[in-house]
Amino acid sequence: MPSGSNPAPSASGSWARCLRCSRTGEAAPLDRPAGLSPAGAPWLVEYDLDPERGAALRAALPGRRWSLWRYRELLPVVDLDGRVDLGEGGTPLTRLERLGGLAEVWIKDEAGNPTGSFKARGLSLAVNRARELCAPGVQLPSAGNAALALTAYAAAAGLRARVALPEDTPAGIARSCLADGAEVIQSPGTLVDAGRQLAELPGEFWDLSTLREPYRVEGKKTMGYELAEQLDWRLPDWIVYPTGGGTGIIGMRKAFDELERLGLIGAERPRFAVVQMAGCAPIVRAFERGERRAEPWAEPRTRAWGLRVPRAVGDFLILDALYATGGAAVAVPEERLAEVTDRAARESGLQVGPEGAAALAGLELLTAAGRVRAGERVVVFQTGDPANYQ
Ligand SMILES: *Cc1c(COP(=O)(O)O)cnc(C)c1O
Repeated sequence: MPSGSNPAPSASGSWARCLRCSRTGEAAPLDRPAGLSPAGAPWLVEYDLDPERGAALRAALPGRRWSLWRYRELLPVVDLDGRVDLGEGGTPLTRLERLGGLAEVWIKDEAGNPTGSFKARGLSLAVNRARELCAPGVQLPSAGNAALALTAYAAAAGLRARVALPEDTPAGIARSCLADGAEVIQSPGTLVDAGRQLAELPGEFWDLSTLREPYRVEGKKTMGYELAEQLDWRLPDWIVYPTGGGTGIIGMRKAFDELERLGLIGAERPRFAVVQMAGCAPIVRAFERGERRAEPWAEPRTRAWGLRVPRAVGDFLILDALYATGGAAVAVPEERLAEVTDRAARESGLQVGPEGAAALAGLELLTAAGRVRAGERVVVFQTGDPANYQ
């Protein structure tokens, strides 16, 4: 492991200050490798922010390219000019006139990211930081999209990569990872089993699993900045999010808190709605029981691979975001996916992946239950390119 000789991110104009344990509040420096905190919880990056900085950022934004790097002061990368950048972020937010009943529905379509999903946002930051901190290699277990993103960024960064995929992952995913020069392990069982299998293998590969390092959240949080900016700094009433490990929810909540400290938004917050599949809904079950942690789901089953996450390290952070915002959590029956996918194409010309279809189906359930009401503004996340599933 490298010593503490790496420069602090502030060298690049980043406002990052330190890491902070999401459970205990313990601080740690940014210039060395970090997995989970000593309390076994995710580290989150903390920034020095004030309204003066917010005004400066807002004034600079119109001149910047639409990618997540337009928020560079709010990212923890040291070597900005030398970064690996495949064009991540900067995705469209589009009004859907015909889907969603009487609510005002917008869709944030993440399929245009490199490697076809929003996993690119998180892995861009995680791989850039791993490279800056001199990682010998990087690895993670994945349902598919995280592996595609990891191996692409690792290839571009010149880092060795290793991924473990559950055996029933579509064959195209493994082929693409191999083409990126990565080592691919086919793992019997679930994502949790795949992670365990990887951890037992020899070799110095840093674990970039969801929330087991601090930087994927930093990439994912940029979705929150983007939608705030795209809606002219007025947050929506609801964010409907197809939830696996929950990085996006945790990240966007963090993004909104940062924007408030920058004086770019006020204290208002969207309600988060977690959408999971009936065949793997640990967060929904815990929310319905009013619990702070989620029990692992015994036999995760759904073809929405991104949502096949039986246990989330950040479960308590996701649930906390739901309770704090008066949010909701719904489980979508598997058979709804096909119908919603067809309808999104027929009525709106929209190509959605299974997770995006789940989010749209979740919105229908929330509307039918009277949770989302007429006139409310809703942002639904369409998270992956359907082509990744073939
Ligand atoms: C990983 C993934 C999700 C879940 O995202 P989290 O932020 O980890 O909950 C949703 N959709 C797709 C396409 C994914 O790949």
